[in-house]
Amino acid sequence: MPRRNSNAPSIPVIATIDIGTTSARAILFSQQGQEIAKHQIEYSTTASEAPENSKNTDQFRRRSSLMRHEDPIFSAEGIAISITDNVEIENNKSSVGPTLRFPQPGWVECMPVHILANAVQCLVACLITLRKINQNPNLQVKYKVKCIGIANMRETTIVWSRKTGKPLSGGITWTDTRTSEIVQHLEKMIDEDRKQELKEKTGLPLSTYFSAAKLRWLLDNDDTIRDEYEKGDGNLMFGTVDTWLIYHLTKEKSFVSDITNASRTYFMDLETQDYDDDLLDFWGIDPSKIRLPKIVSSSEFYGSFAAPNLSNLGFHNKITQEAYDILKTITGVPISGCLGDQSASLVGQLAFSSGSAKCTYGTGCFLLYNTGITKLISDHGALTTFGYWFPNLKGNSGKPHYALEGSIAVAGSIIQWLRDNLKMIENAKDIGPLASQVDNSGGVVFIPAFSGLYAPYWDRGARGTIFGMTQYTSSSHIAKAALEGVCFQVRAILKAMASDAGASEDFLEEALTSQNEKKPLSTLATDGGMSKADEVLQIQADILGPCVTVKRAQISECTALGAAIAAGLGAKNEEDRIWKDLDDVLEKITGGDAESNIFVAKLPDNERRRNWKRWEKAVERAKGWLDQED
Ligand code: ADP
Repeated sequence: MPRRNSNAPSIPVIATIDIGTTSARAILFSQQGQEIAKHQIEYSTTASEAPENSKNTDQFRRRSSLMRHEDPIFSAEGIAISITDNVEIENNKSSVGPTLRFPQPGWVECMPVHILANAVQCLVACLITLRKINQNPNLQVKYKVKCIGIANMRETTIVWSRKTGKPLSGGITWTDTRTSEIVQHLEKMIDEDRKQELKEKTGLPLSTYFSAAKLRWLLDNDDTIRDEYEKGDGNLMFGTVDTWLIYHLTKEKSFVSDITNASRTYFMDLETQDYDDDLLDFWGIDPSKIRLPKIVSSSEFYGSFAAPNLSNLGFHNKITQEAYDILKTITGVPISGCLGDQSASLVGQLAFSSGSAKCTYGTGCFLLYNTGITKLISDHGALTTFGYWFPNLKGNSGKPHYALEGSIAVAGSIIQWLRDNLKMIENAKDIGPLASQVDNSGGVVFIPAFSGLYAPYWDRGARGTIFGMTQYTSSSHIAKAALEGVCFQVRAILKAMASDAGASEDFLEEALTSQNEKKPLSTLATDGGMSKADEVLQIQADILGPCVTVKRAQISECTALGAAIAAGLGAKNEEDRIWKDLDDVLEKITGGDAESNIFVAKLPDNERRRNWKRWEKAVERAKGWLDQED
């Protein structure tokens, strides 16, 4: 007879929902940051309408509605639990239509109800795993979900009806560029002083990314939304993905947005952490005609979990009774943490101190540099955004933390290009071994400016360029130069951010000679698909030089872990939290120090300096390739 463990001591776990641009996942974390259960759904797409560059990529796989466990799951105690059954979460497998749609070139829409359904299904799958783990007779403890945290893609804009809860159109994702005309028009209307004034207030440049332009587009182009707006009877609700999820996943129907998300709308003033009349006016938004969510911290009680009724929202693949039953086990659990994805990975990388930075090498590359409680406006084109705000913590830790953000448009996608267009490799993972067949790039410099050069160069007319090829150049040299091209840009952004933060012209060189000066950056925390390759991180360390150690996250799911940390600090009373404070987080979650995850410069200083000079020369030559009229 198996021993019953109903009286077993309970171990708290944190449930997280992580909504990405191409997939959704839920992960249950322990206090040590271990993954107890995980489930991921890749979004289904209208593949036939997918833009050229997204066809054939493995990100756009079909979604599965079944949960399968092929590998054993390990409990926190290290007990392998094999779960062999398939659990059906949806009643019928007929297609409910895609989660992502590409209705026109440059348009990327997401279906808000599907996103919600994906989040629910991922949660259900994790809870089923948790139940199986808890039923294991060898386990002396019982895991219990104590709080819930959310991380999400930012800027994506959703408008819905308060009466029905249903979205009134597809969500416009952050990558969608349909608003370019609106943005160009506004850019022409205002002078440089006004631009600077807006930037000081929002931390953002005028761009198609941010939610304001997307909402403006909906009000100008969607008849239903415009009619509701004109009626002005309080039915119209605006939100980003965090707001949409929290609204539908809380019993109270909490209508909130955490500051890291709200700071990406272009409606919020970074100083007041609230909506700004001048900004709303700039976009022609009348807040008496559309409800805007209350801006809240990243870590507090937002509401208690309750499963949404997906059929009422028009999701016709009904969730099974078993799935709803298991969701009851977390009904009432507080949702107490929320962060936009890049902020979440800053937190998940434990980059809490001012001057620490993280770099996520995904399809594109996102760099965040924590500037603590100081708001810095970049002179080099970095954005100012919120890192996190954990108000329950004492002293400065409890104040909103700012970050400078820089991104590189082409990072992992250069590897996809070498794979799919040049057929140089079969799989992304082959890039490291190919590049390491040579000691250096043989004088080749690859500027991967496929759609122009971004921070800190800002040259829209630049295009991808390969310099320095000779008869001797091989595919390995090109592969190496391509990886270097990404890593040089990371160096350029870090240099620019450090100088925004008051460091000398090139802190990476300066710090080599100065004795006592506090270094602007000593460790670069990394994650994302491309960081799996040791070769990439070694190249990065060699390019940054001996002042900076490059460290790969031991826990690969930094974004979800960040949401877990925010949720785990969300209770007012210290004894109700998963972690007392940030020191406690650092003490309990000890990851990333394994030697195989640490990379330090090996390249001699003179070679590093020569390579950097060569890169800068190449950048100058690549700039302005397209003429204005091109
Ligand atoms: P995203 O979240 O943007 O979809 P990921 O963090 O999943 O991105 O990273 C995907 C990118 O990582 C791909 O562009 C791919 O080229 C690259 N990648 C994946 N695995 C490896 C690997 N082993 N070595 C180098 N690059 C890799």
